[in-house]
Amino acid sequence: MTSIGIIGSGFGALAVAVELKRSGHTDLRLWERADDLGGVWRDNTYPGAGCDVPSPLYSFSYEPNPRWSRRYALQEEIHAYIRKVADKHGISPLVQYHREVVAATWNERTSTWTVTFADDTAQTVDILISAVGQLSRPKLPPIPGVETFTGTSFHSAEWDHDFDATGKRVAVVGAGASAVQFIPKLAGEAARLTVFQRSPNYLMPKPDKPYTAFHRTLFRIAPVTQTVERGGIWTIMEQFAQGLKDESRMGKVNKRIAMRHLDKQVKNPELKAKLTPDYPIGCKRILFSNEFYPALARANVDVVTSAVTAVTPDGVIDAEGTEHKVDAIVYATGFDAQNFLESIDITGAGGQKLATQWADGAHAYLGMYVPHFPNLFVTYGPNTNLGGGSIIYMLEAQARHMRQALDRLKAGGYTTVEVTEQAEESYDREIQDKLDVSVWSHCDNWYRHPSGRITSNWPGATLPFAKRTKVLEPDAYSWS
Ligand code: NAP
Repeated sequence: MTSIGIIGSGFGALAVAVELKRSGHTDLRLWERADDLGGVWRDNTYPGAGCDVPSPLYSFSYEPNPRWSRRYALQEEIHAYIRKVADKHGISPLVQYHREVVAATWNERTSTWTVTFADDTAQTVDILISAVGQLSRPKLPPIPGVETFTGTSFHSAEWDHDFDATGKRVAVVGAGASAVQFIPKLAGEAARLTVFQRSPNYLMPKPDKPYTAFHRTLFRIAPVTQTVERGGIWTIMEQFAQGLKDESRMGKVNKRIAMRHLDKQVKNPELKAKLTPDYPIGCKRILFSNEFYPALARANVDVVTSAVTAVTPDGVIDAEGTEHKVDAIVYATGFDAQNFLESIDITGAGGQKLATQWADGAHAYLGMYVPHFPNLFVTYGPNTNLGGGSIIYMLEAQARHMRQALDRLKAGGYTTVEVTEQAEESYDREIQDKLDVSVWSHCDNWYRHPSGRITSNWPGATLPFAKRTKVLEPDAYSWS
């Protein structure tokens, strides 16, 4: 029986675990560093946290949820959905908690992976699957003085729920996807809210709506209605993704929608100028909100279009040298997405270090397989993130592909599978060529490694990825 270890317990881990369990694998274990499952949907509990992909699509195709309370579900409901799917498919009992993986080493002699945890214990498995995602390590900006601040400060992904903003002066550093969701709530509480927006984002209206009891009954007794809604949303998102290619017609349509939203919601010309991006739409993630612009237009909110360059014991200093005295700082500064799997010391065949191989940015065949690292599979790996669309659709495609690799290992009586260097290099060239003509190469964004390579994103819509990964190509790997 093949033993399989999965690092993580979020959507990626669940996608693979369910797929493998359904195909008869029983020696499965999920290693979770915390005391609950759910990945980013366990961690990100900031006010207003939710998904900007509609829930009928941001869910497993085989687990539609007729009970969603609204089209864009909030964090608690998504987390509850993950728990429910894990329970239903018998994955919850397979999760081992407080198991933070710090190292993994390939043993040539036994063709197994030895995985070491933070408490110095270890386990050995035949197949190692990383499902740590791209956005699991909150990033504080390297600003001098961060540790000297004497008020309350925290990262958006580690929200301090004891903090009460009522009557306080609060600084928010960053204005990305997370900030856009919690700023409206914070703006209604704080005496003064100062938003440090180094660069503005394109913002689109969010077609959110509560589902009524009628909808929920309909989805339950006639599931096809929810399938039709899912299909409609998927089709729109696939078109939306077309707008992420350079100079595309869809990009122009997206920009018109975003600029009209700004015109409609912000009347003050000075604020409008601050919120108007000067880079091609899509280069940074396009955001969706109906409440963000009105929150910024409030009398108690200031938008400072400058980076924070230093933190003092009682405030922050912006790039113009102005000091802003505040009682609290919320860092909405994103995640360490560029250094894939950096927190785990992974040693493959011949003593090859993954960190060395990926020193100029991560790359992997289909985002999942790495030469010199036999029997290592990566979910939501390099070049599989989306500028638009549901990552869960991508994760299901990856899980199906990994299942095929395991099927072939078994059918052929092999013990190891390793992608060839040629297959991986030629795939990487193809992907990088496509990324060269994407909008992401025109501004600073978290999709790029400091070397300049775009390491996060898949260049396009989700259907081409599903097609590309539908049938495993045995010749791309060596089997032994
Ligand atoms: P983010 O989009 O990376 O935003 C980080 C923000 O911090 C940016 O506005 C950045 O400015 C700013 N920043 C960094 N250092 C700064 C400094 N020294 N001074 C001033 N500003 C600074 O992070 P995020 O909002 O947490 O989102 C990360 C990703 O998580 C998203 O792209 C998305 O994939 C995912 N997410 C998804 C959802 C969802 O609804 N599905 C919700 C939240 C997050 P610059 O833009 O100038 O770099």
